Amino acid sequence: MTVDQYNFAGKKAIVRVDFNVPLNEEGKITDDTRIRGALPTLKHVLEQGGALILMSHMGKPKGKVNPKMSLGQIKDAVAAALGTPVQFAPDCAKAADQAAALKPGEVLLLENLRFYPEEEGKPVGIDKADPAYAEAKKAMKAAQKEFAKTLASYADCYVNDAFGTAHRSHASTAVIADFFDADSKMLGYLMEKEVNAIDSVMKNGQHPFTAILGGSKVSSKLAVIRNLLDKVDNLIIAGGMGFTFFKAQGGRIGNSLHEDELIPEALNVIEEAKKKGVNLSFSVATVAGREFSNDTEQRIFDTHNIEDGWEGMDAAPASLENWRKIIMNSKTILWNGPVGVFEFDNFAKGTGEIAKYVAEATKNGAYSLVGGGDSVAAVNKFGLADQVSYVSTGGGAMLEAIEGKVLPGVAAIKGE
Ligand code: AMP
Repeated sequence: MTVDQYNFAGKKAIVRVDFNVPLNEEGKITDDTRIRGALPTLKHVLEQGGALILMSHMGKPKGKVNPKMSLGQIKDAVAAALGTPVQFAPDCAKAADQAAALKPGEVLLLENLRFYPEEEGKPVGIDKADPAYAEAKKAMKAAQKEFAKTLASYADCYVNDAFGTAHRSHASTAVIADFFDADSKMLGYLMEKEVNAIDSVMKNGQHPFTAILGGSKVSSKLAVIRNLLDKVDNLIIAGGMGFTFFKAQGGRIGNSLHEDELIPEALNVIEEAKKKGVNLSFSVATVAGREFSNDTEQRIFDTHNIEDGWEGMDAAPASLENWRKIIMNSKTILWNGPVGVFEFDNFAKGTGEIAKYVAEATKNGAYSLVGGGDSVAAVNKFGLADQVSYVSTGGGAMLEAIEGKVLPGVAAIKGE
């Protein structure tokens, strides 16, 4: 079922949204992107004459009530965004009466799902090494099912529009779907856009396909690299994680970030890329700093020959020129991770240039997907978010999808 096919008139829809918005000390929202992201689905349900039951997590309360993470704090902001009053259920598992009383066009926001350990379904207060852990886990899984059943009992249909938690197999993101038949569960618009964007790259990407991977650590991207080696023509390895590869090949990396324990893996990746005919493209020149700060002295080095006392912090023009050619010649582009310490303006040039090339290639007809935490911040920083094909909102979920994993939140609905 899809949101467009379903008739919401007179129906109650329980919608998993991602309202895990950042709050300041006073509990005011500092970035409402996630609320705005859910609006198309929510407004569609209301306009058709449906009623909404909204459920989300906020922060990591670890299964306990924590007023600092109460969704009550954002009730008014949600009401303002929707343009209609929002009722609040202070206990998400005891909201049956409030849900039953909802009339078409009305909205009920449930309290933070993660105030209940059943949402995540992990046993609390017991170590994995404890012999009783397996039993505790089994009991928690049963409790999680009951919790999901309670949530499901509030509504006629279930919509998942929380891409940010699509890689979690939680009560509200996956287990609940078992309590609805195929005709009454669906992905929301945001979720569908995310899934389509990932499919456009990972399943239906045209060649040449180029992935640009940056960021700080090889360890967090290894699974992504491995999966991409089977799909891409060019793999640009940039940013801090490049230095582990240079060290592995006998280069001098000065004080640059690296992970010694990943050197064998790095050599493996180089070997595998050769076998698979993937063009691995590394930085050839690096802007290094004396220390890790914005105003530190800068010097450009050959990437394989950085002197001690210097730390590689951005891509230099010679590297960018190589990458520009590759990117401009691509039909599909996937970008994850900055190519330098872009939080420091003096080391953000390389990342800004990459953002420009990706935008330029997109203008020339390439499909470009940008995602995973910091690369999103980067395209936003350079004002280019609307000049790429799609900017993913879910860092962890997007990374798992490009690792080739099935997302439980999607599978629970589409049955893949
Ligand atoms: P990740 O979360 O792994 O995608 O890494 C993002 C972080 O990588 C950002 O905070 C960047 O500042 C950092 N980063 C990128 N290049 C470098 C570098 N050459 N040295 C240290 N940190 C870097």
